[in-house]
Amino acid sequence: MSRTPFIQPDGFKLLPGYFDVASQRALVDAVLDSFKTHPLYQPTMPRTGQPLSVKMSNFGPLGWVSDRQGYRYEPNHPKTGTPFRPMPPSLLDLWDEVGGWPAPPEACLINWYGPGARMGLHVDADEDAKYAPVVSISLGDKARFRLGGPNRSDPTRSFVLSSGDVVVLGGNSRRCHHGVDRIYPESSTLLPRDWRPGRINLTLRRVKNTPQDT
Ligand code: FE
Repeated sequence: MSRTPFIQPDGFKLLPGYFDVASQRALVDAVLDSFKTHPLYQPTMPRTGQPLSVKMSNFGPLGWVSDRQGYRYEPNHPKTGTPFRPMPPSLLDLWDEVGGWPAPPEACLINWYGPGARMGLHVDADEDAKYAPVVSISLGDKARFRLGGPNRSDPTRSFVLSSGDVVVLGGNSRRCHHGVDRIYPESSTLLPRDWRPGRINLTLRRVKNTPQDT
C-alpha cells in the first residue's frame, strides 16, 4: 500500500530565528507583565467542559475565549472582565512584514504550554476574516508542530519550532489542520526560572471581515 505524501500547502511559511534573543526577551517581559493584570485562564471545551492542556490569555482589542458556551472572541478577559492590553508594537510590525494583509490583527492569543501540554489537530475557524493569515511566534522551549491538510485524515508533517521562530498560515494553509504534539522541556533558557520548563506561543489573528475579504 502506498502512502500519500505530504504536500506542503501554499501560503505556509516557517521563518526560523525571526526574532533575536533581545526581541524575544522583550516579548516575554510584555507577556509576563500582562499576567499581573490579565492572568492565565483555563480554556475548556464547549459542551464537555473538558479543560484544554494549555492555559491562555490575550493581547489586543479581542481575545479568544473557550468555555461551555463555545469558542468565540470577546473584548474582555473572562476572569477580570477588563479589556486585554494592547499588542506590543513589535507584533504589529511583524504582521505588517509577513502577514500581507491590509487590516491590522485584532487578537493575539497567548498560549502557555507547560511540560505536558499539547494541542490536538484542528483548523482555526472562529474568525470571520477567514482568508487573513494566522501568524504565530514561539518563545521558550522547542515544540513539535504538526501540519496537515484541509481534511483531518490528510497526511501530516512535523516541524520543530524553536524560540524566536515565526510561522505564517496564509493562503491555502489557513484551512489546514495543525497542532502541537509536544514541547521539549528545558530546551531553551529564555524564560525566567519560574516559567521553565514551558513554552509561550503568541498567535496573531484578524477576526472581523474587511471590505475586500468577502
Ligand atoms: Fe490553531
